[in-house]
Amino acid sequence: MLTDHTGSYYAASANPTPQRPPLQGLVEADVCVIGAGYTGISTALFLLEQGFSVRVLEAVKVGFGASGRNGGQIVNSYSRDIDVIERTLPAPQARLLGEMAFEGGRIIRDRVQRYGIQCDLKDGGIFAALNAKQMQHLQAQKALWERYGYNHLEMLDGTDIRQRVDSQRYVGGMLDRQGGHIHPLNLVLGEAAAVESLGGVIHEHSAVIRVEPGERPLVHTAQGQVRARFVVVAGNAYLGGLIPQLAAKSMPCGTQVITTAPLDEELARSLLPEDDCVEDCNYLLDYYRLSADRRLIYGGGVVYGARDPANVEALVRPKLLKTFPQLADVKIDYAWTGNFLLTLSRLPQVGRIGDNIYYSQGCSGHGVTYTHLAGKVLAEALRGQAERFDAFAALPHYPFPGGRLLQVPFSALGALYYSLRDRLGI
Ligand SMILES: Cc1cc2nc3c(=O)[nH]c(=O)nc-3n(C[C@H](O)[C@H](O)[C@H](O)COP(=O)(O)OP(=O)(O)OC[C@H]3O[C@@H](n4cnc5c(N)ncnc54)[C@H](O)[C@@H]3O)c2cc1C
Repeated sequence: MLTDHTGSYYAASANPTPQRPPLQGLVEADVCVIGAGYTGISTALFLLEQGFSVRVLEAVKVGFGASGRNGGQIVNSYSRDIDVIERTLPAPQARLLGEMAFEGGRIIRDRVQRYGIQCDLKDGGIFAALNAKQMQHLQAQKALWERYGYNHLEMLDGTDIRQRVDSQRYVGGMLDRQGGHIHPLNLVLGEAAAVESLGGVIHEHSAVIRVEPGERPLVHTAQGQVRARFVVVAGNAYLGGLIPQLAAKSMPCGTQVITTAPLDEELARSLLPEDDCVEDCNYLLDYYRLSADRRLIYGGGVVYGARDPANVEALVRPKLLKTFPQLADVKIDYAWTGNFLLTLSRLPQVGRIGDNIYYSQGCSGHGVTYTHLAGKVLAEALRGQAERFDAFAALPHYPFPGGRLLQVPFSALGALYYSLRDRLGI
């Protein structure tokens, strides 16, 4: 079990990883990255591959945040789909973002192969429809993705989906053959090892407490400073108020995950015979998959404002049993919560403060693929190729109505509305 992590199944089954000492004293680097989740580590890796010197400062441990706690589902595109982006941005920029929507998954597969990362990568993801309206939506999504040249999708009718998911809940679904799943913490730990293999330095227990802007910004921790040409802010939902300009237009939200005891082989195979991962099409969605040691990892629910719920198992177990009543007697071994960052549009918040402080955050629930792409796009921008970065930065973002104090009630109201819609199937 890795200490300092949340009490997750992932921490309990993490690959061995070194202790990384805190930053001490003043050091220089081309780039200082704040946060060692997928966004920070992916950015660091792309930068190192291009010859930059990089220091990563992590408040707790590599993968402490959402990247080490998530459902492990490789979901293509963004939390809001390309059609929303097409309605938001001028055509050339929307086109660029649409073309990038499938790149993050390819980056993950490339990283896993190139650096030999052991993270149980499996192909195959299912979007499961609970009603006819959601099936229509999936048909439209297939047509949309195919318009961008993505041809790995297959519609599943009620009979097809039951051959891949042993649940009576779904009227059908869509299989994404280039979706899939990973052990999320082992992915980021493997990427961190790749960073170090290229000469990057990662400091754990090195919370950034202040960023002093300037021609060469100075990034402060309790015991040290990094002077850098560029700063990349990748603290996402765990950043707090470090960069006040970023806080108003985003809100941390918690989502909860439970993990069963290992299932016997026959039962596991009966639930998900093709070992796909599944997410349903509700706004407040359920997501699940099997682990490599045949546990069911089941997530669902959102707590606005990222308060930790007292009893995660009590919150998520009923959802699991609604999908798989045949697991009524199965023991839950792990239960945890993690925070993702929501924006009002549910599209990522990307940009630059002054000339040299860059950020990417707020991918609003679906971030495993996007954060890997973000690393590439940020690294391009730091090299002076900002066309793709600028397309993301053009996405408009708005403060949550009522400001920080009212964010939670406002969004909880929104969630209530959407959950009612989910339940009524409208
Ligand atoms: C429970 C859960 C399930 C999810 N499931 C899925 C899924 O199945 N598929 C999917 O696509 N997406 C999923 N997501 C979303 C996805 O995990 C995130 O979008 C993604 O991991 C965000 O990565 P990140 O690097 O931006 O942020 P994080 O992984 O949260 O990393 C931020 C890091 O910055 C550090 N940090 C913050 N402030 C400071 C500071 N001042 N100084 C130094 N370090 C700092 C934190 O300690 C943390 O380690 C899920 C999220 C959660 C919480």
